[in-house]
Amino acid sequence: MNVRQTVFRHGFKVLKASGAGRVLAPLTQGFGAVFMLHHVRRPRADAFQPNAHLEISPEFLRFTVNRIREQGYDILHLDEAVDLLKSGYGRKRYAVLTFDDGYRDNLDVAYPILRELGAPFTVYITSGLIDRESELWWIALERLVANNDKLALSALDLEDGISCRTTEEKTACFDRMIDVLGRETTENEQRVIVRALAESRGLDLSAIADELMMDWDEVRQLASDPLVTIGAHTHDHFALARLDAASARADIMKGMKRLETELGFRPKHFAYPYGKDYAVCERDAAVLRDLGFSSSVTTFPGLLTSAAARDPMMLPRVSLNGRFQNGEVLDQYLTGAPFALYRAARWAAGGFGLKSAVYRLFPSTR
Ligand SMILES: [Zn+2]
Repeated sequence: MNVRQTVFRHGFKVLKASGAGRVLAPLTQGFGAVFMLHHVRRPRADAFQPNAHLEISPEFLRFTVNRIREQGYDILHLDEAVDLLKSGYGRKRYAVLTFDDGYRDNLDVAYPILRELGAPFTVYITSGLIDRESELWWIALERLVANNDKLALSALDLEDGISCRTTEEKTACFDRMIDVLGRETTENEQRVIVRALAESRGLDLSAIADELMMDWDEVRQLASDPLVTIGAHTHDHFALARLDAASARADIMKGMKRLETELGFRPKHFAYPYGKDYAVCERDAAVLRDLGFSSSVTTFPGLLTSAAARDPMMLPRVSLNGRFQNGEVLDQYLTGAPFALYRAARWAAGGFGLKSAVYRLFPSTR
């Protein structure tokens, strides 16, 4: 377990043992929660799983829906939740389930469970991945690191190569490469580098999309059920705030128009790829408003509070972290206390240059 997970785990122990979560709940709970999920599938046995926080088991999905309801929350359609958020108060707390990217397991594994439980949900589609034009670069990187003993990024300061023989080395190599490709290169360079690396090692990127992503018929199958809301997630899954204004607008527009063409309606809801500070900005929220979107979700950790209601184009979410699939963590999330502590810790750590360490308590998502 790495430092981040250890701190996270201890934080939850303290919240539970002290009862602080329950005490703070009236101040931190808000109106409800938008949950973020990616994959729902059977756990894998591999030791090296750097994207494991992005997948939960079918059993934990079922458990989560039941637990949320036991805690007194209604699971609502996103439309209804956004209307309630804008109009305010005076009813039961509510939760919304959202899935990012458009993975096939959302249809094959999550959908039958949620249909059986009568739980509405939203899937944010990255149209370029459904078109097989874009690439799941973080999955490609996972497979490149898993299948090789040494990798080099020749365009950068890593031309000597990073050793990735043991699980520990593979994890360090993956984290370093994600940092470099997600922060130090431009978004376009990131894709050029991953494509070149994949080609040199014989990894077929469009085969990964074929294996993991829905095709348009499958998206249409989901969209035809009134339980399901289809939202937009750009065409190329770029970190929008790292693009120039015209390119960001173009990626949003293309994703929206591809959905409109393939599904016959224009999506009303949007999720920022990655959804963190470095990927989200007011400039792009203004574009979304201008295009007529009624909500947009980030991955800023938090519950729906009056502050969130003021800006439905920057809604926080609760990531169902695959490394912490248990009811106690879920209960703590619903008190809102972990997010209040997270914000306090970020504020306190800012002056000591520790901000990025605290920032990592809630891991980066895709
Ligand atoms: Zn995404």
